[in-house]
Amino acid sequence: MSSRTSTIKFAVSQIPERLPAAERERRLANPGFGRIFTEHMVRIHWDSEHGWHDAELKPYAPLSLDPGTSVLHYAQAVFEGLKAFRQADGGVAAFRADAHAARFRNSARRLALPELPDETFLEAIDVLLAADHGWVPSAAEHSLYLRPLMFASEVSLSVHPSSEVTFLLIASPSGSYFPRGVKPVTVWLSEEFSRAAPGGTGAAKTGGNYAGGLLAQAEAAEQGCDQVVWLDSTEHRWVEEMGGMNLFFVFGSGSDARLMTPALTGTLLPGITRDSLLVLGRDLGYAVEEGRISVEDWRAACEDGSLTEVFACGTAAVITPVAAVKSARGAWKVGDGGAGEVSMRLRKELVDIQRGTAPDRHGWLHPARVSSKS
Ligand SMILES: *Cc1c(COP(=O)(O)O)cnc(C)c1O
Repeated sequence: MSSRTSTIKFAVSQIPERLPAAERERRLANPGFGRIFTEHMVRIHWDSEHGWHDAELKPYAPLSLDPGTSVLHYAQAVFEGLKAFRQADGGVAAFRADAHAARFRNSARRLALPELPDETFLEAIDVLLAADHGWVPSAAEHSLYLRPLMFASEVSLSVHPSSEVTFLLIASPSGSYFPRGVKPVTVWLSEEFSRAAPGGTGAAKTGGNYAGGLLAQAEAAEQGCDQVVWLDSTEHRWVEEMGGMNLFFVFGSGSDARLMTPALTGTLLPGITRDSLLVLGRDLGYAVEEGRISVEDWRAACEDGSLTEVFACGTAAVITPVAAVKSARGAWKVGDGGAGEVSMRLRKELVDIQRGTAPDRHGWLHPARVSSKS
């Protein structure tokens, strides 16, 4: 497959001694999220003179950075988040790796960073999974979270697109986001803070968007809510996203249900789970649309019963039902406050494809080059 052939050659230096399998299994038993990491990482350098070069797989280790490194000051950095799943047949596959590669390029372009070719992004995943596939958990709902990132590594306090950039790929075994089953969340409508504005970086996966959201998240917690819901920054009226996840609204029920997710206006992050659910929703026969909903309409539709379910979606937690909404001007419940039928049906459809227990009819799985025995 020529599209899988990277133009960059990866040097491979494995750690001298692997962790004993029993110790690895002990760490995998209760991994949590983003706390433990596998034994290797990928690193690739870029500079304005040579382009991408010196790709290597190396032992996972801390970085040594000059305090003048540009990213520490001006946040020129982007990241991705995708998952590799243990398949029903024992193999390993990454979910929609090509879509994540494309979004990584789009994010990089917005942050004036160099674009990593898709085939190099995929090769980095292949090389890391070849070394560390033993770290892909097999427990239900568990997976290996892959975190590609890129940052300005030039040492300079002058503000300009960095002439040196570092790409890294690390991997973190992750457990179920909801160890005791899918748990609906309560949300706080942020009317004071905004996540993204027209012309800004809202559609790019960049850490600055998260840093700017932490205070609103803290405010949500103070209000007794689990998550913050972002509204448009102009009118503070149109619903955009929930924390680091996209939102879906379900009107009606059963086979007549209609799904609506806020359209990508440039201030929303184009979620790949969002995109997958738009496709699966259609496959399941639901009416599906990208549209918009105001805060007033959200409340009115809950009160008259036409809006039956609301859920958030993203790679980390897949689907999270929204049970109740709170704002400075009032509070209301969504449906019966539990996990909705349509939400859970979509969730199962997606998870079954990811784990290879349902046919991959859209070609979303990127199989790793590993034997089924680890
Ligand atoms: C990553 C992210 C999402 C979800 O994207 P997925 O590709 O589905 O994981 C949604 N909103 C924001 C702000 C994000 O950063």
